[in-house]
Amino acid sequence: MKKNSSNAMALAPNTSNKRETVCIFGTGDFGRALGHKMIQSGYPVVFGSRSTQTSSLIPKDAEVLSHAEAAQKAAIIIIAIQRQHYNFLTPLAEILHGKVLVDVSNNSKINQYPESNAEYLSQLVPGAKVVKAFNTVSAWALQSGTLDASRQVFVCGDDMEAKQMVMDIVRALGLTPLDQGSLLAAQEIENYPLQLFPMWKFPIFLSLGLIAFFFFYSLTRDVIYPYVYEKADFSFFIAISIPNRICPVLALILLALVYLPGVLAAIIQLYRGTKYRRFPDWLDKWMLCRKQLGLVALAFASLHVLYTLVIPIRSFVRWRTSNQIVSQALNNATEPLNITSAWLSDSYLALGILGFFLFVLLGITSLPSVSNNVNWQEFRFVQSKLGYLTLILCTAHTLVYGGKRFLSPSSYRWYLPNTYMLSLIIPCIVLVVKFVLILPCLDKPLTRIRQGWERNPQYSE
Ligand code: NAP
Repeated sequence: MKKNSSNAMALAPNTSNKRETVCIFGTGDFGRALGHKMIQSGYPVVFGSRSTQTSSLIPKDAEVLSHAEAAQKAAIIIIAIQRQHYNFLTPLAEILHGKVLVDVSNNSKINQYPESNAEYLSQLVPGAKVVKAFNTVSAWALQSGTLDASRQVFVCGDDMEAKQMVMDIVRALGLTPLDQGSLLAAQEIENYPLQLFPMWKFPIFLSLGLIAFFFFYSLTRDVIYPYVYEKADFSFFIAISIPNRICPVLALILLALVYLPGVLAAIIQLYRGTKYRRFPDWLDKWMLCRKQLGLVALAFASLHVLYTLVIPIRSFVRWRTSNQIVSQALNNATEPLNITSAWLSDSYLALGILGFFLFVLLGITSLPSVSNNVNWQEFRFVQSKLGYLTLILCTAHTLVYGGKRFLSPSSYRWYLPNTYMLSLIIPCIVLVVKFVLILPCLDKPLTRIRQGWERNPQYSE
């Protein structure tokens, strides 16, 4: 009976009017939200509750019965109750025998219990077929219909038929089931909602560390140094000048850090002569958060653009310009146009504009809605070739900004070089090593290794 009905649902999830009744234990936030969505999708819903009194919050087309009565009405029972209350299910074990129990629960801490909630449920009711599902969907998203970012429903369970029945329901609700395998996967699925931006942690902490370092570095050079030597108060630099030094520096360093792990991976593969040996964990993790590193870098580049746009209206800049004009007028001497400086300034701006344009393009292509529409080759072309071009343009933009000042002793304060000089270290290393790696004598063996060739096959053991 179950097999046929679930197959029918899979073939025509939205057209069948005769859906199997679904029982939901618990009339809390999640039980009600899921019940509401199921009724909308054509499922008769019966709630099992400690109190059979219905309330205005409970979907009006749903019945509210005792747990035992409700369980008898359906083959699938969704347990929308916190794990710590599961022991009320033990006396119901006989009624629940052979039923599909869907565990939707989450914990408040990662690996809170030795076993997953779903495994615990299956130990409590050994005769039932336990399936883990729906825990990554929130009650609020179900109720408000804002499921765009969380359409995926991770499903796992030991009984294939039971899992299939649950996946059919997931599809019928307009969601996407993702089969994660046996119930052993439940612990991992339960940990997903507790992981706060896992891929963003490294880029964000790294950025915060770099911001703190470059802020105090710039403060020392641009505010404390002139105060100590000239008694000049440049504390207002904290508002715009210093952020406008930190943002481009961070954008460039983080962009280079997007490409550095690829270069390191290539060196490791060349050294080992095989691609079949795992990279160190830190490198794997670093590679996995490259997109996030790139997006944080783009955010800093955008801030740099905004800070740069306001430069002409800054009081300090207007004062400095008018001062120069007045001093030229007083000395009755106009400075001739310096063509070299004009070239440097225009090239610096042009490289910055092009670099930022490509940076934005990279950011746009990393959006799932765009990347889903390009094939793997196109995605690689944009992220690798255009990415390197962006890094070259942004590095050149910074080099030209430095212009003739690199070797000028006046640009060192307390022997500290300008921040932009520091920002060039990692990008230049990445570009030089990448250039070396594309030399045919290294590129050819690397390509062969990436195609599966091994220099020392014993490494792959
Ligand atoms: P809730 O609002 O606290 O509701 C839990 C329900 O459990 C209560 O309304 C009650 O229903 C029942 N209950 C409470 N104590 C009980 C006991 N001693 N014995 C039997 N039943 C008891 O919690 P919720 O937010 O709906 O969450 C329910 C489950 O869904 C949890 O496991 C949670 O981790 C999971 N979940 C929630 C969300 C969400 O966004 N809220 C998202 C994903 C997963 P009756 O009064 O009808 O008996």
